[in-house]
Order: sequence, then structure tokens, then C-alpha cells
Amino acid sequence: MKETIQNIKKVYQYGKEYKKNLIGMIMAVFSSTIIGIIVPVFTAKQIVYFTSSLWQQLIYISLAIFAVQAYISFAAMFFTRRNSQYFTRNTMKNLQIKLGNEILKICQKDMDNNSSGMFVQRIINDTEKMASFIGWGGLEYLRHILANIGALFATLIINRQVFLYYLIVSIILTILYNEKTKKKGKKDIEFRNKTEEVSGLTSELVRGERDIKMLNAKNSFMTKLGKNVEEQNQKRFDMAKVNMFYTYIIDTLRAVFELGLVLLLIYLVKNNTISIALAIALFNYKSGIMTVIMEQISGFLDLAKDFNISCDRVFSILEDETFKKEHFGNKHLEKVNGNFEFQNVSFGYNEENLVLDDISFKVNSGEMIGFVGKSGAGKTTIFNLLCKMYDVKSGKILIENEDINELDEDSIRGNITIISQNPYIFNLSIRDNLKLVKENLTEDEMIKACKIACLDEFIETLPNKYDTIVGESGVVLSGGQKQRLAIARAFVQKTKIILFDEATSSLDNETQSEIQKAISNLKDEYTILIIAHRLSTIINCDRIMVVENGRIIDKGSYNDLLKRESL
Ligand code: ADP
Repeated sequence: MKETIQNIKKVYQYGKEYKKNLIGMIMAVFSSTIIGIIVPVFTAKQIVYFTSSLWQQLIYISLAIFAVQAYISFAAMFFTRRNSQYFTRNTMKNLQIKLGNEILKICQKDMDNNSSGMFVQRIINDTEKMASFIGWGGLEYLRHILANIGALFATLIINRQVFLYYLIVSIILTILYNEKTKKKGKKDIEFRNKTEEVSGLTSELVRGERDIKMLNAKNSFMTKLGKNVEEQNQKRFDMAKVNMFYTYIIDTLRAVFELGLVLLLIYLVKNNTISIALAIALFNYKSGIMTVIMEQISGFLDLAKDFNISCDRVFSILEDETFKKEHFGNKHLEKVNGNFEFQNVSFGYNEENLVLDDISFKVNSGEMIGFVGKSGAGKTTIFNLLCKMYDVKSGKILIENEDINELDEDSIRGNITIISQNPYIFNLSIRDNLKLVKENLTEDEMIKACKIACLDEFIETLPNKYDTIVGESGVVLSGGQKQRLAIARAFVQKTKIILFDEATSSLDNETQSEIQKAISNLKDEYTILIIAHRLSTIINCDRIMVVENGRIIDKGSYNDLLKRESL
């Protein structure tokens, strides 16, 4: 309970601005609950008037019951729902936006180590579960619980023996329900973890479908997915087993208790301890106290448990150290010319293996530097470190003579663009892909950028030209076109430093020469680093660094390296 209250407080921070709706919703629930408690007494009177043919009183009491019922439905249906919808939906909107922001701050290492499906689950499913607890679902349970506690209190006023009986029955059923919730909760955590894995794999199936088909890996992928779904189902069955076992015991006990109640009431009426009208009123509370209250408490506990689990998962992203966040300094670079330096930099993706080992080099503004070396030598890692996607283990990286650990995010990533072998192109139009990096991009700027990237002629052949939607991760475009669109994006962004990972494969000579042309269009004005796979690219570079096993084993011009046989 303490945990639930703490979590509600935390969630409330995201919905504070909608306080009015929260108060409105609570007031509507309370008023309808209190009135609801009086109804069984009225109905008892109604029956007694009916059986004694007291017609006038019967009409009055029936009208009163009608008015009360109408108010309850109106208050519950309208005020509560309207206010709770408004409050929860807006709170969740704030929470989801904050979650999105925080996920973008998680350091790359922790992102690499977790599946994207897990994060998607947390943004969509967990916030949905939280919403159903703090909104209508949780409140509806609470309303029933309060009504039934009120009913219990009413029986105390009417007759102590019946109250005692109801109290004992309630306690026994509560203990059993608690037990059920506890056991189910444990199974539920296992089930959810498995669900996260399945959803991760499913999202990979969709995102990686091309590669799965091309690798002819349909069968092995589906076997893996099938095995995970089977395990997920097993967890689901385990949960259902616990549920069925306790439901059977509770239902049987409930029937026994109901029989006991009838016998007790007969005994009290026979002894003239209570009137028939009161016996009917006390009996009317039965369904509330014995049936509904327990189910409501159990439902409420289930929902609270779900809520707490979801809160843990969501707040572990928002505030915990479970996922380490990126850290930047405060220094802002007003002007970047494109000079930077690596000073004795060492780095590894894990503690054991060094991927870069004591690397030092300096690059001046406007230079074009080529990196060559075997696959896995550490070339891409150099690019990743310059963008501060990972932190160096030792040594320093300087941009314009400032340590990047002291620079703010904008000074680093606002001045560097990476054009990878397979750049991520969003499922938007070409225009909107470019506008992502510059909102107020003009038509002229856009066309100029595409000209420089040697993409304009191709775009003109598309049916909707610049408004053509490029499909998820740019499937409509070829590898070379994607790279050229990324070059246009870099040009629009006007970052002084451009890191280019030349495609190793599949690009035909014509595409390759267009890309070369696009890059040479940027030369001199920008500092360009290229992971080069082709002789033609290397020849164009001012300097070349040869990377092997995480070290720069040689550097110099193309001719120098040829002479030393380093290439
Ligand atoms: P290159 O670009 O020269 O082909 P990389 O810099 O991509 O080489 O990789 C260097 C080494 O680091 C490789 O052994 C690779 O397996 C490893 N590596 C690259 N990225 C990661 C990562 N995100 N997590 C763990 N290891 C990685």
C-alpha cells in the first residue's frame, strides 16, 4: 500500500496541472458512494410498504429510490468518467513525452544491451496500465470498496450480530484474496518479462524481415520466436492455475457463508430481535459485502500490483540509475571551424577488451582524412567516440581545443554528422526528412542541398518529387541514394565536421562516382573523415591513417604510404 501511495504521488507530478479534474472526479465518486449506502434501507422499506399495502408511502419511497439511482448513474457515468479521462489521458501524455525524452538520453552502451521492444513496451503498455489504475478502473474499484465499507458500517448500526458475522466473513475472504494476489503477482512478473522478450523478437521480425528472407533464416527465426511464445504461454498458464485454484475455494466458501447468513437472519426474526424490514435491509447488503467487496478488493489489489510493476519499469527509466544517462558539460562552443584532436585515447565496449589502444591524431579544419584498415580494426569506433556516443576509457578528445567532456550536447552533435553505410531514413517525405534537421528549410536550400548531394536528378524522376514518402527506413531508396540523402541532410545541417562511412559493397560504379562527387562538393569547406574502402577515395584524401587492432600503425599521404607499403 505504501508503495502504491508513493507511486501515485510520483505519477501525480506529471498530472498536477489537471488537479481540477482530479478533485472533480473524487468528489463525484464520494457523493455517489455515500448515497449508494442508503439505498438498501430504502429498498427494504419499499418491500415492507409493498407487502403491507401502504401505497402512498410506497410511491414516495419509490420516487426517492429513483432520484438517488438517477443521481448515482449521472455522477458516476458522467462527472467521474469525464474528469478521469481528462486527468489520466493528459497525465499519461506528459509521462510518455518525458519517457521518450529520457530514453533518448540513455547512454549508447545501455541501449545496445537492451532490446528496442522493451522500451516500446514501457512507453505504450506500462503507461496504459498506469492509466487504468489512476483513472476510471482504480476509482471504480475504490468506489465499490467504499460503498461496501459503508454497508458494513450500516449493518453495525442495525444489528451487531449480523455485523460481526459479515466482518468475520469479510476478513476470511480478504485473507484468501490477498494470498491469491500475492501468488499471482510473482507469476505475473515472470509472464511480463517473457512478454517483453517476445515483443522484442516480434519487432525484430518486422524490422529485420528483409534480412531474414535474404538470409533464408525464416525457419530458424520462427523456431526461436515459437519457443519464446511457448514459454510465454506456459507462464500464462501458471498464472491461470493459481487463479483457478483460489477462485474455486473462495466461491465454495461464499456459498457456505450465504447459507449461514440466511439461517442467522431467520433466527433473529424468530427471536423478535429484528423486524422483517431490517432483516431484508441486512440481507440486501449481502451481495455488496460478500460478493462484490471481495472481488473489488482483489481487483483493486491486482490493478495496484500491475500499477506498481509498471511504475517500477517506467520510473527506472525516468529516475533510476538502472539505465545510465549520457552526461554532457556546460561549455558551449559559439563557433566551430572543424579542428579536433584525439590525445592518447583508449576505449573498450566492455571492461575486458580494448578496441582502441592509445590513439593520437590531430585534424585541421577543411582537411579530408581517410581511415583504412581491416574490418573490426576500430575505425567506426573512432567516429562513435568523436560524437560522444560512448565515453573514452582514458585519454582526451578535443574539439576546438576543448575537452568534449566539458562541452554541451549541442556543441558536439550540432557540429558533427555521421553518414553511416546504411543511414537511417525516416518514413517521411524527402522534404520532411530534410526538415527534421532544419525546421525552417526553404525550397531553395532544399534543392541546393540535393544538388550538392547529386540527388536532385533522381528526385525529379519520382512521382511526387520532394514529397515522395520514402517508406520505413527508406526502403524506396537504394543504398547509394540513402547515403546521398544523408549527405544532403548533413549539408542542410551545416555541421562543420562530417564523418562518412563509405559503403563496402553493392554500389555500382555510377552510384559510387556520384557519391564521390557529392563528397568532393563538400571538400575544403568541411572537415571530412572517411572510412575508405576504395582506392579512388583514398587518392582524394589529404591524409590517410592506417588502423590495425585499435592502433594507428601508420599515417601520411597516399604516396607516402605506398612507398612504405603500408597500404
Ligand atoms: P571497423 O569500423 O574498423 O570495422 P569497429 O569500430 O566497428 O571496426 O569495431 C571494432 C571492434 O569493436 C570490433 O571487434 C567490434 O566487434 C566491436 N564493437 C563494435 N561495436 C560494438 C558494440 N556496440 N558493442 C560491443 N562491441 C562492439
